Amino acid sequence: MPSHPHVLITGGSRGIGLAIAHHFARASYGCTLVSRTPATLKAAVSSLPGAQHTSITGDVTDPSFWTPSGIGASLPPSDRISVLVNCAGITQSSLFVKTEPERIQEIVDTNLTSMMIGTRYLLRKGYFGREGNRTIVNIASLLGTHGGHGAVAYAASKAGVLGFTRALAAETGRQGIRVNAVVPGYVETDMVKGLDHASLSQRIPLGRFARPEEIASAALFLAQNEYAHNCVINLDGGLSAV
Ligand code: NDP
Repeated sequence: MPSHPHVLITGGSRGIGLAIAHHFARASYGCTLVSRTPATLKAAVSSLPGAQHTSITGDVTDPSFWTPSGIGASLPPSDRISVLVNCAGITQSSLFVKTEPERIQEIVDTNLTSMMIGTRYLLRKGYFGREGNRTIVNIASLLGTHGGHGAVAYAASKAGVLGFTRALAAETGRQGIRVNAVVPGYVETDMVKGLDHASLSQRIPLGRFARPEEIASAALFLAQNEYAHNCVINLDGGLSAV
């Protein structure tokens, strides 16, 4: 891996993750994007400014992905990661009692369990090194702090992301590895295509969904501010106030 500071972004191929990649690329980071779909990843990497970017195709919920023969085959432990952005996620729009157990498992596996298994793998293998400005940024959700109709498993997984962030911060701070989170409200991405934007926007004090770039700039801030640790940034247009 080159001498640029490097960011690994799960879910970096689209939406918020891709906007985060653009912000870091413009700040001269090299980006490695992870998601399941090679074509989308290829397009994402080629959209980034600069040539120091790459992608790894994989399913973050597959435990064999977080092994030396999985991600380790593309990302040897001699490579250094300055920033890990845990952004891969899937949503839910079904009443709890109508959500099949397999779907509950899939939501929690994607949004939370994979985050813990992946982060643990990268920490244990020494990818963050022993010095320099090193950060983990986790993407949570307003539904994880405030709940939401039709989103029980999603809200539970995102509440877990915040618990993971805070507890890990207590463990890694002495090693100089900072752990932070961003808590978006509603953001204009594929994930929310099926929602009624007009009626939801009426409930948001700022009257609109966030643009992905507005979440991305917070992720970059958390990476660059060397005193940000156990820091949780809410970006919900004021929705949490009503
Ligand atoms: P998108 O649906 O636009 O993008 C999701 C990303 O995650 C894609 O890159 C997708 O790629 C990847 N992904 C999903 N599942 C897996 C998997 N099993 N393995 C690897 N990659 C996976 O969503 P957003 O950009 O909107 O969401 C990004 C994060 O932000 C999520 O964690 C979401 O919960 C959170 N968030 C979003 C909000 C919103 O309103 N949009 C609000 C609050 C939080 P692929 O499908 O090709 O694998």
